[in-house]
Amino acid sequence: MPQSHFISSIFRKEVLDLSAYKVADAGGLIKLDAMENPYRWPEPVIKEWLDVIKEAEINRYPDPEARRLSATLKKIDGISGNLEMLLGNGSDEIIQLLLMALPTHAKVLSPSPGFVMYRQLSRCLGLDYIDIPLLSGDFDLDLPAMLEAIDKHQPSLIFLAYPNNPTGNLFSEISIRKIIEATPGLVVVDEAYAPFTDQSFIDVLGEYSNLLVMRTLSKLGLAGLRLGYIVGESSIIGELNKIRLPYNINTLTQITAEFALNNSDLFKQQTSQIRSERSRVLLEIRSIEGITTYPSEANFILFRTPPDKAASLFEMLKTKGILIKNLSPQGGLLLDCLRVTIGTPDENDAFLQALSSSFEQLNG
Ligand SMILES: *Cc1c(COP(=O)(O)O)cnc(C)c1O
Repeated sequence: MPQSHFISSIFRKEVLDLSAYKVADAGGLIKLDAMENPYRWPEPVIKEWLDVIKEAEINRYPDPEARRLSATLKKIDGISGNLEMLLGNGSDEIIQLLLMALPTHAKVLSPSPGFVMYRQLSRCLGLDYIDIPLLSGDFDLDLPAMLEAIDKHQPSLIFLAYPNNPTGNLFSEISIRKIIEATPGLVVVDEAYAPFTDQSFIDVLGEYSNLLVMRTLSKLGLAGLRLGYIVGESSIIGELNKIRLPYNINTLTQITAEFALNNSDLFKQQTSQIRSERSRVLLEIRSIEGITTYPSEANFILFRTPPDKAASLFEMLKTKGILIKNLSPQGGLLLDCLRVTIGTPDENDAFLQALSSSFEQLNG
């Protein structure tokens, strides 16, 4: 039996049809492609951290409930009453858990362009994934189209990233509320970029029993730890908890996250630096004639090149040692679009310098 027949006789069609989530190799390049916080910890903090880590009992299984860390996170976000929290190995794992809990042919709805894992994980599980285009001018929700799709498809789950990735904007709060009120299923407001905006649905949780708010420590500055969490009514979280792997948050992550959250001043300093750099970088890109920028409440900026220039510009930047993200191949509203993550002031300067010189070369 030829190998390809063997493979396709073993795996589900949904899996065979997928392509793996690709991560670009950043070897030697200034890495502005993945919404990471560019700052490491100061040496004294690293020393203190190592002292804490030294005590870790890695011969034992981790606390399956991560009680101490959960309590710290709940306190920080002001979670109480009938609300519960579930932790995941990154919020990606929580997205997977949510989808795994749905009926076999359930429908999942999300606006597009959006976060790719919603689609990837839905497809993999054989769910019916429906995406509704955002408005082309400002990437806000197309509320009539969303409400029509809700009415027609009766989705079990809706994902709304707030701010949205890869567009960087916040959807209108009124539209989100109307969607929560209209849908028969759950609405997950994905606040992966919470450290870079003042808006949140955390305080709205008490108003709607079908609302869940998901967050992650990745974009804050702990992408290597893999820790995400979701908050909602305890009856909903209880169901998700049944399918969570018992030790999904490892000991080192539990200890390190706890330590980091107790050093919150450090992160406040870093994220406010990133926020002010975001304004500077946005103005600088905007000053290049021919490039369109979009406002951002996240730690990245989406911008649009003249027609058919995105791929060349992306490659020219790479030649100059800078890795950003080319979104143009995704087509639709992202045609001719590139996305840059905000780095340190020096990295941003290098990017801006390379961008303007490449753009000149391209037009010269
Ligand atoms: C980055 C990102 C995530 C995933 O975060 P992890 O916690 O690192 O898995 C989830 N949602 C959105 C919108 C993101 O941009």
